[in-house]
Amino acid sequence: MTQFSNADAQEITKFDRVSKLWWDAHGKMGMLHTINPLRLKFILQQMAAPQIDTPPPRVVDVGCGGGILTEALAKTGAEATGIDLSELSLEVARKHASAHGLAIDYRYQNAEQLAQEQAGSFDVVTCMEMLEHVPDPAQVIAACARALKPGGRAIFSTINRTPKAFAFAIIGGEYVLRLLPRGTHSYRKLIRPRELREWARAAGLEFTGIASLMYNPLTRRFRVDAGREDVNYMASFVKKS
Ligand code: SAH
Repeated sequence: MTQFSNADAQEITKFDRVSKLWWDAHGKMGMLHTINPLRLKFILQQMAAPQIDTPPPRVVDVGCGGGILTEALAKTGAEATGIDLSELSLEVARKHASAHGLAIDYRYQNAEQLAQEQAGSFDVVTCMEMLEHVPDPAQVIAACARALKPGGRAIFSTINRTPKAFAFAIIGGEYVLRLLPRGTHSYRKLIRPRELREWARAAGLEFTGIASLMYNPLTRRFRVDAGREDVNYMASFVKKS
């Protein structure tokens, strides 16, 4: 159970239950490992090039789960924080990071609490595959915006709410190809890019780019198509100075 507002206890329980699987690259969470290098590349493209003699960028990964992306970000030299409300997932994340010599600050917190405690603190906020699991995604986006420094970058990923996305992500992904655990996504909680952009705009974030992760079932590979927003997409924003 969670005492946090804007969190769905059933969703958190779902991730608690799969927490042992986060680092099994061939298990039910394996898809996140497959797409990780692609999403990391997209995120790095959105970030300003690091300058010599400047401190490492401060990055927070909201809804970090077992830390698949958080670790990849930390390995680029960023000062990484990961927040989540699944205590069991955080436990797995902490153990995995320390076993791999990575100093990551993992916290049991939601985005709203982070924004309250550390407004204007981060160069980058990532929030991947998480918005479709919360009651009020607009509020999470607003909190992510508050946590950013002016000029900071926010990158969100989620799944579009269209018949095509339903066919590919839910029917194809969960039932036919079984790339994801059944029941991972519910159609009505999926998010149209236009909705996400509108919530971001209302939070003071300026849209900078979108790309879609396209899956080819024949080659079993994903690729990133810039400018597209079908099925699983990533959108990036900059906080107005
Ligand atoms: N971002 C990770 C994990 C995605 S799964 C990745 O892409 O690899 C979604 C994660 O969001 C789960 O770990 C779940 O516990 C977390 N989550 C769901 N609701 C949340 C909330 N309100 N606040 C913080 N984390 C939440």
